[in-house]
Amino acid sequence: MRFASLGSGSRGNGSVVASQTTIVLVDCGFSYKEAVLRLKRLGLGPDDLSAIVVTHEHSDHVGGVEALSNKHSIPVYASRGTWIEVGEESYSNPIYINDLFSIGDIEVSPITVPHDAREPLQFVFSCNGIRLGILSDLGSVSHRVIEGFQDLDAISIEFNHDVELLNQGPYPAFLKSRVGGDFGHLNNEQACALLQRIVSDRLKTVVACHISETNNDSTRVQEGLDRVLENQNIQRLVATQSDGFNWIEIGTS
Ligand SMILES: [Zn+2]
Ligand SMILES: [Zn+2]
Repeated sequence: MRFASLGSGSRGNGSVVASQTTIVLVDCGFSYKEAVLRLKRLGLGPDDLSAIVVTHEHSDHVGGVEALSNKHSIPVYASRGTWIEVGEESYSNPIYINDLFSIGDIEVSPITVPHDAREPLQFVFSCNGIRLGILSDLGSVSHRVIEGFQDLDAISIEFNHDVELLNQGPYPAFLKSRVGGDFGHLNNEQACALLQRIVSDRLKTVVACHISETNNDSTRVQEGLDRVLENQNIQRLVATQSDGFNWIEIGTS
């Protein structure tokens, strides 16, 4: 299995998870034109996509899903709550919390997260025993999250903001409370504490994602990753809004 990102942050998200035969796009918060350009950077076109899996209805995750899906007849999977919020009356592929489902040879395990959306989910993708976690947009860490994201070979995990930078930053008070609240976004310390709970001998890759361009900086994120992962043999990367990150191979399938 391998994965990559079209871009990550509050102005648009999109991750790609691929096996030998199946390619899944997780969220698309970019316009159609932008998404096509960003897919091309990864050597892909929209017609290569087997499905789009949506985490929740916020525009940085769904903004480009409808256009991409309609123009290329790509099936979309989302929770019933997300379908309702995007105004779809027929839930074409509803995802039920804790119900595994498959797209081609990739098995998808949905996990509910504390975030201010109607029925937000994050996912673990498995193929031939390799497990990849995609985890962003959560304001706090629940037991379900800790349980669900164990035994991974790789994870993309939210490092949204630095508490100090958020507090000193330009956001209005209501937005600071929303972002920093239990249903907002993970700060660097929360992300580090969560990583400590899920790190294992098999974990080989950690990508920090959904980093705020206003309330964080990559040096602080990198320092956090290095502090938690120390000298373990774990690849660590920081995803950006403009470039996401390029393909990362995990396992052999
Ligand atoms: Zn988001
Ligand atoms: Zn969100």
